[in-house]
Amino acid sequence: MTAKALITGLTGQDGSYLAELLLAKGYEVFGLVRRSSTSNLERISHLFSQIKIVSGDLLDQSSLMDVIAESQPDEIYNLASQSYVPLSWTQPALTAEYTALGVSRLLESIRRCKPDAKFYQASSSEVFGQPDESPQTERTAFRPRNPYGVAKAYAHWMTINYRHKYNLYACCGITYTHESPRRGTEFVFRKITNTVAQIKLGLANELKLGNLDARRDWCYAKDAVYAMWLMLQQEQPDDYIIASGETHSVRELVECAFNYVGLNWEDYVSVDPAFYRPDEPVQLIGCIDKIKTAIGWQPQHSFKQLVELMVDSDMKKLIQNGA
Ligand code: NAP
Repeated sequence: MTAKALITGLTGQDGSYLAELLLAKGYEVFGLVRRSSTSNLERISHLFSQIKIVSGDLLDQSSLMDVIAESQPDEIYNLASQSYVPLSWTQPALTAEYTALGVSRLLESIRRCKPDAKFYQASSSEVFGQPDESPQTERTAFRPRNPYGVAKAYAHWMTINYRHKYNLYACCGITYTHESPRRGTEFVFRKITNTVAQIKLGLANELKLGNLDARRDWCYAKDAVYAMWLMLQQEQPDDYIIASGETHSVRELVECAFNYVGLNWEDYVSVDPAFYRPDEPVQLIGCIDKIKTAIGWQPQHSFKQLVELMVDSDMKKLIQNGA
């Protein structure tokens, strides 16, 4: 029988890659999309004919129950959230509604309508905030430092509590930053690759950034969604860190992207304190020993490959758009 999967956050970066992966594996894929007055379907337009789009919202319990009762999924991936950290400071209550309470609504809907479904919750390294140790493991204490991280910590513990209390197959993947050509340009990685492509094509002449020494553990979104799927194929549910296991600075990223197009980064980059992030988390780096040994996952793409494939993609998009 064909396996069925429901993805929330289908229109986002990870949702679109996960849908491609599951379709390639022969799943019947249902994608939860919320009503919006403008179209946000760009990332999944190429998949329309293969996915069943279902209407629902993490803010609305009954819509989630209806979708689960009707689609009867074997696997549910909750990728939906308000995922932009700076916005969580200007809209903290809404962030909590989507990112924290939305998960309670979803877990409750699963418990009532399809308790044997396997559930993946998208946790985030932001739950560690200012961690006591580096690298972080699945046992590192949560010390979130922004409303997004606090909301993700709530969702994480609710998922684990539903696993213990109701015996749901529910697990959390603590993902560190992951990037792709489908990432929004408000995120620093894509901002850099997109601006480098623009500079190379003569469409821009400056790249303004915040702290060049900030370090991140970046991996490729396609690698991350493969880990999510793999987690739900195990006999027992468990929580895992999904990361590259190494950090790189913004400066290294800038250097790598400019080198790739044959330009000297120092001719174009300026530092603007307006882009400094308040409460910059220090040394967030994931230890991936557990996921490597328990389920055999590790990233398939290096940092350099990721930078280059994103610059290539941004150049291609700009040229297609008539640059
Ligand atoms: P994304 O591109 O920002 O996508 C977020 C998705 O959530 C969008 O499809 C959005 O739909 C949907 N959504 C927001 N509010 C909703 C609501 N009330 N009801 C239903 N859907 C709603 O995020 P992503 O980068 O793919 O990340 C996937 C998940 O991993 C998120 O939970 C994120 O917080 C988490 N995460 C991501 C990273 C990363 O580096 N990418 C790292 C750690 C954790 P609309 O199109 O309607 O806005």
